[in-house]
Amino acid sequence: MSALTDLSLREASERLAAGAVSSRELTDACLARIEATDGKVGAFLAVTAGGARRAAAEADARRAAGKRLGPLDGVPIGLKDLFLTKGVATTAGSRMLEGYLPPYDGTVTARLAAAGAVLLGKLNLDEFAMGSSNENSGYRPCRNPWDLSRTPGGSSGGSAAALAAGQCFGTMGTDTGGSIRLPASFCGVVGLKPTYGRVSRFGVVAFASSLDQPGPLGRETWDAAALLGAVAGHDPKDQTSSTRPVADYLGALEGGARGLRIGVPREWFQGGVDPGVEAAVRAALAVYQRLGATLVEVSLPHSKYGIAAYYLIATAEASSNLARYDGVRFGLRAMDAKGLKEMYAESRERGLGAEPKRRIMLGTYALSAGYYDAYYLRAQKVRTLVRRDFDAAFERCDVVAGPVAPTPAFRLGEKTGDPLTMYLADIFTITCNLAALPGLSVPCGQAAGLPVGLQLVGRPFDEAGLLRAARALERELGPAPRPALEA
Ligand code: GLN
Repeated sequence: MSALTDLSLREASERLAAGAVSSRELTDACLARIEATDGKVGAFLAVTAGGARRAAAEADARRAAGKRLGPLDGVPIGLKDLFLTKGVATTAGSRMLEGYLPPYDGTVTARLAAAGAVLLGKLNLDEFAMGSSNENSGYRPCRNPWDLSRTPGGSSGGSAAALAAGQCFGTMGTDTGGSIRLPASFCGVVGLKPTYGRVSRFGVVAFASSLDQPGPLGRETWDAAALLGAVAGHDPKDQTSSTRPVADYLGALEGGARGLRIGVPREWFQGGVDPGVEAAVRAALAVYQRLGATLVEVSLPHSKYGIAAYYLIATAEASSNLARYDGVRFGLRAMDAKGLKEMYAESRERGLGAEPKRRIMLGTYALSAGYYDAYYLRAQKVRTLVRRDFDAAFERCDVVAGPVAPTPAFRLGEKTGDPLTMYLADIFTITCNLAALPGLSVPCGQAAGLPVGLQLVGRPFDEAGLLRAARALERELGPAPRPALEA
């Protein structure tokens, strides 16, 4: 790996600020690295080399004129292909949207561009962000740079794999039930799912609207903090966007862990977790104790209903959101169909993969007149109970800590035959979405030579506290190891 693409976003940004490197050099290094490695990894669905070089030249001109915009100015990044990019194909990983050119930028896209970030391209994902392994991509699976026979996690698999492979310095993903944290854990990078409403969903292809939340991934906590600082904040175009002021995430980063009360949920350590994962997580908790934090046992008794409630709510909302792909307004249309109904049916049959179809059927069923109360409404009530568990825990602790996933990265194909076992990969991440809380994954060790992430869940809008806690561990453990991926 060339030295430049080894840098973290923080290091790249510092070198830009010092004039030690140009945005054009960083951009060319990333493009070369993508060229050399992405045939194997499959992190990118589209590379926008021309636009990236133009944006880099503009960033270099600003810097030369002493008008650098901030820490992201001139830094090459990638976006999960769920974020709308004006005039740049946005597929949501679905054949349904193949070649779709959005007429506008989403808010995350626009804010990163306004901060001077250089967009290298669009990153692979599970179709409509439905999945935990990236194998539901309508285009190609993405592979884990640590072991190409394994999944990078999903649904933001491309976003994590691209970072681990040294192809860019920061990425954005989305997390509906774990899709930022799981791939971050599997690929050994930092991934943060903010509080629901912290980052605008405007211009993000919708999956389950009450759960979806965009968030950053980076090689270091600093990187995630810088990205979050650029995209967070109220957006009048998203009615669920919060008006709370945005914290100074970078400023708060080095506060340490002394006095931090870490809640350890009993239910997250009751078996079913790979011993190597559990050992890495427990070792991280011991590091925190050495740093002056205290561990408090807490209980999240309704966690056990998390998967069931999530898969009702997520499928119900998905069935409604995906109704728009009817062959009329967006994307693929069966031109040879006879009549309107056949055109609807054929367009959906051809454009949508097995997982979205499965979810549309489940969700339509759960929302149907006779079943709404029994399923969707009941799942929403469970959601309240899950949130109350966390509220009670946060009376005794500042963050909740545990594993991100029960295992390290599993093999491609290992779970594709059985959707239920795939759904179980999200058992520890899903409750945080149901409760609308912020959660992150920070590298904490390895199991069988594969990265393991520690999950930290925080109080509403305490992203700064989570990042600070994660940084304390990162400082102690040193830079997270990187995979030896040959070009
Ligand atoms: N794996 C979960 C699902 O398939 C979560 C996906 C996500 O967070 N987007 O729904």
